[in-house]
Amino acid sequence: KLFSDLGLSSTLLIQLEKAGYTTPTPIQAQAIPVLLNGHDLLGIAQTGTGKTAAFALPILQKILSDRKMPAPKQTRVLVLSPTRELASQIAESFQQYSRGTGLQIATIYGGSKYGPQYKALNGGLDILVATPGRLVDHIEQKTIDLSTVEFFVLDEADQMLDLGFVKPIRQIASRIKGKRQNLFFSATMPKEIGILASELLNEPKKVEI
Ligand code: AMP
Repeated sequence: KLFSDLGLSSTLLIQLEKAGYTTPTPIQAQAIPVLLNGHDLLGIAQTGTGKTAAFALPILQKILSDRKMPAPKQTRVLVLSPTRELASQIAESFQQYSRGTGLQIATIYGGSKYGPQYKALNGGLDILVATPGRLVDHIEQKTIDLSTVEFFVLDEADQMLDLGFVKPIRQIASRIKGKRQNLFFSATMPKEIGILASELLNEPKKVEI
């Protein structure tokens, strides 16, 4: 399989070529068509498998294809990550694959100053990558509105459990209104994570690698 067989647009294919990606990894080959078709996804995959591109590419394709000009700058994509390091890497991947499109991507995580985060949120953004604890702080301070989120990604769910983030994840999910596409990734499926997945996902397609 080639990336061009998966239904990705030429804008993204050009970026993949620049990144030096020649063939999709197994998680990408399986997840990208499912996500482009609008299904919720339960992905059982570890870091290093290419799972970031597996969710970032179809999400970018969808938000670029029905983009309003000028950009209304509402948060359309929310990605939750357990750590600031992973959040930064995810944001960099979105940045890399969407270069030249003008999409606004922001990262919000704990242990850093609020000032630049208020500024990023105020300026408007398309894609927000956040750690759960700090995002809940912003929700409580009413400095973020999640009512316009169309794509909700929970990455490394089992690590979220280990770090005590299940309660904040439920608080965050309750702020996202109406119809959305949900993506849930975990390397393992302990019982609590299975329960959380069944709460957050609607008839998901399962991809396990
Ligand atoms: P991830 O599992 O998302 O953390 O990705 C692991 C690494 O693989 C990252 O450095 C990506 O840039 C790289 N990568 C992802 N997909 C591909 C691909 N199809 N071909 C080559 N490298 C890739």
